Order: sequence, then structure tokens, then C-alpha cells
Amino acid sequence: MSTIDKETMSLLVECEDCKEKFRITTGDAANAVTYKKEFNVNGQSIFLTYYDCPKCGRRHYVQIDDKTSLNKLREVSQQFVKLSVAKRKGKEIPQKQSAKFKKARQHLSDYRMNLMKQYTGKLLHDNETDSDFVLRFSV
Ligand SMILES: [Zn+2]
Repeated sequence: MSTIDKETMSLLVECEDCKEKFRITTGDAANAVTYKKEFNVNGQSIFLTYYDCPKCGRRHYVQIDDKTSLNKLREVSQQFVKLSVAKRKGKEIPQKQSAKFKKARQHLSDYRMNLMKQYTGKLLHDNETDSDFVLRFSV
């Protein structure tokens, strides 16, 4: 999974239930098939990124965010855009700037990993279907 939502990538995935293989795109692309949805767990807002199997509809959760990680994500994305623009203009990226970006991206990734551990196995309520489910990630 990409740690930067602005980066679009295409991945071949397999459904955990029916084993259907299909391609998903992540990021802000118009054809992205991953979605973010807000859940409330013990008064805390979390945002889960998921995709559904086109064949059987099985939902796969692949990423978790909270307000802190979304703030981190915004910072990382801004840095990423800045670096991309500089690169496109043929500018040399200063070592310091590039290192700062990599560090921020790593922090975000570590933070999300911890969130994932923290919320795996928690009982969540889906308002759409008005049902409870145990959160598990497909990564
Ligand atoms: Zn399926």
C-alpha cells in the first residue's frame, strides 16, 4: 500500500472469500476504487479505507486513520507535492529536504501500523447496514 494518498497506484489483489483476482487503484484518481469511511469507536473517530470485491462484495479493510494521522498525511502530501514540482523543474532536491520527507513518511507509516494493531479485533458498528462487525485488516 502506498503511504501517500496523492500517489496513485494500481494493485492486483485477491478476494479473501471467493479468490477473485482484480485490480484496484488507490489515491485520488477518478477511477480509484478504495473508499474512506468514518467510524466511531468509544467516542474516537477513525477512518477506514476499504475496497469491495466486484464478484461477491466481500469488504476488505486495508488502512486506518485518525485525526492525527490525517494531519500527518496532509504534511507528507504537501512535502511530496513540493518535491515533485522541484523535480519536474529539474531542480536538485537538497539532501536535508529529502531526508525530512522520508522521515515524515516513515512516521506516518509507523503511526498507522500502531493504529492498526490497536484496532484489530475491535467491535465496530456500521451505520449503513446497522450491524456490528469485528475489524480485521486485509494486508
Ligand atoms: Zn469475492
